[in-house]
Amino acid sequence: MSRPARILIVEDNPLNMELASDLLACAGFEVLQASTAERGIQLARALVPDLILMDTSLPGMDGLRATQMLKSDMVTCDIPIVSLTAHAMKGDEETARAAGVVAYVTKPIDTRTFVHTISAYLRPPQAKAA
Ligand code: MN
Repeated sequence: MSRPARILIVEDNPLNMELASDLLACAGFEVLQASTAERGIQLARALVPDLILMDTSLPGMDGLRATQMLKSDMVTCDIPIVSLTAHAMKGDEETARAAGVVAYVTKPIDTRTFVHTISAYLRPPQAKAA
């Protein structure tokens, strides 16, 4: 049996972190947590999650800059990154996609669709080989 998919959540708001973690853990995912971009990058490099949920607005380095760094690193460049953001404006979306974000989840988190939405962007199992 394969291990559960591992999802790293980078989010500085404790309530959003708790909600996202609970929803994903209940759905059977292994959840990793980081409240700063710096810590998130560290965990991503060490544990290579199957997907990263990245808050845009973080203390210190922001989520977009962190995304750019993860995408330019051999170890983490193939990990899908889903942006978790309160500001889904047209220009922001283009900037985020250019940085390497595959999708947006807008806050507040919709508990009815969240897990389904995230699941759609998980790296397919065959891509994990080698
Ligand atoms: Mn934030």
